[in-house]
Amino acid sequence: MSDTCLFCKIARRELDAAVVYEDDDVLAFKDIQPQAPVHVLIIPRRHLATLNDLRPDHGDLIVKLVLAATKIARDQGVADDGYRLVWNCQEGAGQSVFHVHLHLLGGRRLNWPPG
Ligand code: AMP
Ligand code: ZN
Repeated sequence: MSDTCLFCKIARRELDAAVVYEDDDVLAFKDIQPQAPVHVLIIPRRHLATLNDLRPDHGDLIVKLVLAATKIARDQGVADDGYRLVWNCQEGAGQSVFHVHLHLLGGRRLNWPPG
């Protein structure tokens, strides 16, 4: 938990977000600047700044994030056509919010390699 972290504030519901999924450990909401017709961020409720902070005992949490993403992909209608899950780790990879989050992108053709 961090007092200043944007995504902790969203997880505590102190800031508004378009929530599409939640359970005891995970929250998912629409990205405010979508890069695809479907762009959802899936976050752990607990604060972890980057993927570099993950330890083996976070394994269950990571599985929950990925399973939530696959459920949201089905709910949003992109599971069959295809979608991409992205974790940006550190500024050099484009991370701008330092609370671990999984991007779910879909609803359009996604190019490879990514930029
Ligand atoms: P990253 O650049 O991987 O750290 O991703 C952070 C994402 O958070 C970006 O895609 C932003 O558009 C998104 N974002 C920032 N602030 C908000 C917010 N208040 N609600 C929803 N998404 C946000
Ligand atoms: Zn946080």
